[in-house]
Amino acid sequence: SSEDSEMSKFLNSGIYRFDSSSSSSNVVFMDPVRVLNSSSYTLFRVSPSLYYSRFFFGYSKEKDEEETRVSLNSKKRKRKQKKSYTLNERERSADQRHQEARPLLLRAHEVLLEAKDLLLSIRNLKIDDDSSSSLGIDEEEDSKQSFIELGSVFQAPFYEISLYYPLKTKPTEDAGYSLAQYVEPKVVPIFNNLVMNESFDDVEAEFLNKRYILPGESCFYMSDLEQIHDLIPAKTDNGFNLIVIDPPWENGSASQKSVYPTLPNRYFLSLPIKQLTHTEGALVALWVTNREKLRIFVEKELFPMWGVSYAAVFYWLKLRADGSLIGELDLFHHRPYECLLLGYCHGEGMDSKLRSTFKPLQENQVIISVPGEYSRKPPVGKLLLDYVPGPKPSRCIELFARELFAGWTSWGNEPLHFQESTYFMKK
Ligand code: SAM
Repeated sequence: SSEDSEMSKFLNSGIYRFDSSSSSSNVVFMDPVRVLNSSSYTLFRVSPSLYYSRFFFGYSKEKDEEETRVSLNSKKRKRKQKKSYTLNERERSADQRHQEARPLLLRAHEVLLEAKDLLLSIRNLKIDDDSSSSLGIDEEEDSKQSFIELGSVFQAPFYEISLYYPLKTKPTEDAGYSLAQYVEPKVVPIFNNLVMNESFDDVEAEFLNKRYILPGESCFYMSDLEQIHDLIPAKTDNGFNLIVIDPPWENGSASQKSVYPTLPNRYFLSLPIKQLTHTEGALVALWVTNREKLRIFVEKELFPMWGVSYAAVFYWLKLRADGSLIGELDLFHHRPYECLLLGYCHGEGMDSKLRSTFKPLQENQVIISVPGEYSRKPPVGKLLLDYVPGPKPSRCIELFARELFAGWTSWGNEPLHFQESTYFMKK
């Protein structure tokens, strides 16, 4: 049946497309772990049990905290509502957006619940495959490297990362090498420098006694916002065709502040999106929170400033492993979905004929997945590639990234965060 074939495609690619002949053709379920493993890694695998650290069964401290916050918020809201019965203008427009999304999201959830085989496999997403071995680093004493701190000290320019490319030709036994031996590592500055894994395979790298896995042909530039201009290509035909951005928006949540620093909106106005765009244009994908004030800022100020014309919105619907949504759909302050706003930035050398060759974006696509760590977004690149203008293979970049993808450039102040070897298993 078509469900069986969709299921086997899902097991390989991590993407399940619901019946394309029906109204649910704009809904996909994604397992980020499978997506990453099938498209980014050759020698290593992302460990499911470490990716899915939240929203599975069992006790979760974070979940408790979130629920307390939600109930406090709704108490506050009730009090407020007693005072004024009518919503103000901003609340009305927020509510209108939500009412537009609501039927789509409910329908998406319904079609998911009807796919029984898929539901069963979602329950098991977190289970590590026995045939792979964990990289076996003691997790208890292993604390994460703070790239943000190290990058801001005066010694930052002297910190170096070592890339260990495996030997191209296997040495013979009598040469006295073991097969596992590596050539001299390539040692380069880790901050304010474009670091690239030039091979097609994953490469292991070392920095301050921790190991990192760099996917094939991935690049990263680790710096503060001030240095982002170093990424602007000398020639625009070296620019990017897909630009994914997940800014550190301020939202006042205490848990967010302890995870990474945030920036006021005006800082994002100066992002050089136009200068990063390829001559033949770029698809820009921007993650936003559900605050109406932010949506208005993006539509009225940010996209116009960047030279981006709005094209569509996609929804990311967040699921628990048992198939339920992570929160009530109508909870005002804690919605179980986030939005990805899409627009086009026109390249310098583009005439109107070229512009019309963009494949039109289908509005309102819904991506369903079980969330990973705090604020980690599902890897949407593959779903967007069809709509990306310009030559193939597309040149792709993620701004404010915390991870790397094969063939992509990642920029941010901690792009190696999720590349630490503790998140991986050996294939
Ligand atoms: N998309 C990422 C993911 O899926 O894991 C999450 C990105 S998170 C919303 C925003 C990132 O921006 C954080 O890693 C944060 O440290 C980084 N950031 C904050 N201030 C920055 C600055 N001034 N320069 C560069 N990066 C910054």
